[in-house]
Amino acid sequence: MRDFIFDTRLPRTVFGAGSLRHLGREMELLGLSRALVLTTPGQRAMGERVAAMIGTRSAGIFPEAAMHVPVETARAASAAARALGADCAIAIGGGSTTGLGKAVALDSGLPVIAVPTTYAGSEMTTMYGLTEAGAKKTGKDPRVLPRTVIYDPELSLGLPFAITVASSINAIAHAAEGLYAPDGNPVVDVLAEEGIRTAAGALPRLQRDPRDVEARGDALIGAWLCGTVMGSITVGLHHKLCHTLGGSFNLPHAEVHTVILPHAMAYNAQAAAPAMARIARALGVASAPAGLFDLARDHGAVTALRDIGMRADDLDRAADIAVQNEYPNPRKLERPLIRELLQRAFDGTRPD
Ligand code: NAD
Repeated sequence: MRDFIFDTRLPRTVFGAGSLRHLGREMELLGLSRALVLTTPGQRAMGERVAAMIGTRSAGIFPEAAMHVPVETARAASAAARALGADCAIAIGGGSTTGLGKAVALDSGLPVIAVPTTYAGSEMTTMYGLTEAGAKKTGKDPRVLPRTVIYDPELSLGLPFAITVASSINAIAHAAEGLYAPDGNPVVDVLAEEGIRTAAGALPRLQRDPRDVEARGDALIGAWLCGTVMGSITVGLHHKLCHTLGGSFNLPHAEVHTVILPHAMAYNAQAAAPAMARIARALGVASAPAGLFDLARDHGAVTALRDIGMRADDLDRAADIAVQNEYPNPRKLERPLIRELLQRAFDGTRPD
């Protein structure tokens, strides 16, 4: 029997094809009347559409969200919100844009409405990240949790398939680590298994037709479930390795998750057998690590660190950094074994 405390706050969540049209109503329910719309430069047109839709409730657009939330961008967004008299931020986009919304909330206290268009799951967590002088600082703060999340599958119809796969596997990684987290519980287990099943099940359908709105909806539901897991637990080896690799070697976030996940699971497989059984059951395979590898490979995702910009010369340093800090993980962290894990991830070796 395991003891647990379950203390999770979730944003109000609105789901449905075309549900973006409820944005004005959702602002009103929160008593908000002037939103700064946040996007990346690439999604500016979507931001303009949102601003036009809410009309006089729009304070303006800040289309400068960037990967890993540079602190200068966060400050500029907060300054824009103040200058424009905004009383909230609407973050429409992937984890980078949600992250900028969180940074604005942290700095200014303004509430955030998130409209996710990838499967990163950040909208369901109180975790935030900020990058200053090349170093990414992360923290947890209830103020950054969006007040309302609108999941509209129509907004991700044009998400490139390669990002779809990497982002979905990023979501699956949240759930996978929830299954062996020290602060897991029976609710988390159910959410995680169903999240993995739903997210993975959407991928073959989206491979056939990336504009399949039902499958886009399932991918979002998967992200919602997996994000909820992530927001409820403490992550282990997989997320810490990805953080090290992304932060110290500037590798792309979702792709790092895709490559590392099968190897992190293989590392923990024996120490977390019940978690592996659930992951395997959700994927309909015999082995969780091999099944996760195949899920990525069969959908055309990268499976080797060397293919996403990692240098062989940096593997030793990566192993050193990865074992610098203690954190909860089912299997003890041993530097030689972590170095071997990184080599297999570098080469793209399929786990057994
Ligand atoms: P991202 O937000 O950087 O998006 C990747 C690219 O896809 C961007 O150029 C974006 O504009 C574009 N894009 C997004 N949606 C699109 C759509 N529907 N159509 C076309 N293009 C679209 O990537 P991501 O993987 O969503 O998020 C990664 C970031 O999120 C990382 O910085 C990571 O640290 C953070 N994250 C945080 C948490 C948390 O709990 N704090 C959880 C997961 C991820």
